[in-house]
Amino acid sequence: MLREEIKGEHMSETYKQMWQELGLDLNAHDMLLNVLGKAYQDIYLAQKNRPSGMGYFDFVMSEVHGLRIKELMDEKAAGRKIIGAYCVFVPEEIVKAADATLVGLCAGADFATDEAEKLLPRNTCALIKSAFGFKLGKVCPYIESSDMIVGENTCDGKKKAYESLKNLIPNLYVMDMPQMKSAEGRSLLKAEYFRFMEAVEKLTGIKIDAARLKKGIAIVNNKRKAIHRLMALRKAKPAPISGLDALLANQVFFYDDSVRFTDSVNKICDELEKRVEQKQGVFPANTPRILLSGCPMAVPNWKLPWIIETSGAVIVGEESCVGERGNRNLTDDSGNTVEQLMDAMIDRYFKIDCAVFTPNSDRLNHIEEMAKTYQADGVIHYGLQFCQPYLMEAIPVEKALESKNIPTLRIDTDYSMEDMGQLKTRVEAFVEVLK
Ligand code: SF4
Ligand code: SF4
Repeated sequence: MLREEIKGEHMSETYKQMWQELGLDLNAHDMLLNVLGKAYQDIYLAQKNRPSGMGYFDFVMSEVHGLRIKELMDEKAAGRKIIGAYCVFVPEEIVKAADATLVGLCAGADFATDEAEKLLPRNTCALIKSAFGFKLGKVCPYIESSDMIVGENTCDGKKKAYESLKNLIPNLYVMDMPQMKSAEGRSLLKAEYFRFMEAVEKLTGIKIDAARLKKGIAIVNNKRKAIHRLMALRKAKPAPISGLDALLANQVFFYDDSVRFTDSVNKICDELEKRVEQKQGVFPANTPRILLSGCPMAVPNWKLPWIIETSGAVIVGEESCVGERGNRNLTDDSGNTVEQLMDAMIDRYFKIDCAVFTPNSDRLNHIEEMAKTYQADGVIHYGLQFCQPYLMEAIPVEKALESKNIPTLRIDTDYSMEDMGQLKTRVEAFVEVLK
């Protein structure tokens, strides 16, 4: 069904014209949509017992380069701005305060890797290569429709890659980032958030006052509250929704219309509450429960979750930026001045325990806490090859969890399908141990 929808979509003349105007390579783009449609069919639509509310996300995915881009184009025509971002440290509240729209730039699949490797060393993580590949291959309508793209100095890979990306994306804005959770680190983040606010004001021509900031905070808080509700329901045994479907909601978080997304997630939660009441699970109650921890999984990176959930386990939580790390905590909106509200926002963002920070003991505490509260039988740590921050942290994380009798499996992989067989064997053996 979905494949036909996607096919129908990319055959659509209106969309074709829109993509052409955005400068996309239509042949390469068709190829990408075909691969995406096939993967979605095989991975998502093949699942059983899905909540009916997931129909909305199926629709969103079928129109991910169609209707949603058309909406963004309509926003632009009405004078509003689109801002793209690669990291959860880019504060959506500020973007919303200026009536602009923030979109996550996926970077979840290999594309034009040969071209990307002319500008990046081969031993660069797949996420960074993918960001370059989507731009060089001219297949991402989100990059092309963005009026400003925000990079951030998080890991060394990204920091240096932005120097080259700037040559491909002239409207790249780079935000500096602290490395330590110190008073100086907080001051740097505060200064950078104020600088970003000014850049957004300049781009949009809108002066952000306290009322506007409050509105931005409320929209984003509501979106996060809905995700918190979804995550809380996954603590139930049996799990009422698959990890794949919950991941999809977390992925769509980054580019759907905020208010519509919030409503759609809340609708799924209403359905899941009934499932939990009736002890109805997506898999049998004795299915081993996995907490996934590590690097973010951007659309359409579904490889490892698919392997896990077709190996007799269910994923009950994601300790990830596309998941709980990115969405933990709300912003206190009780302040009445821009300064107070910005401080509250910085307090919230400064708690994000990305592995680029040193030391980063909060993350370990959160993994342990999540394993407990989500009743996980084991943790799978997912590290992207060549991602130093997360691969380095994976070793102490594994040691600490094992010392607390939480079985842990460390997986290092990339976006290719070459290691599928080997990964499946390792995951199946791990799940066997958990049974
Ligand atoms: S893992 Fe770190 S760098 Fe990556 S999105 Fe999360 S906060 Fe940003
Ligand atoms: S996956 Fe790791 S190396 Fe790649 S961009 Fe994220 S933090 Fe940097």
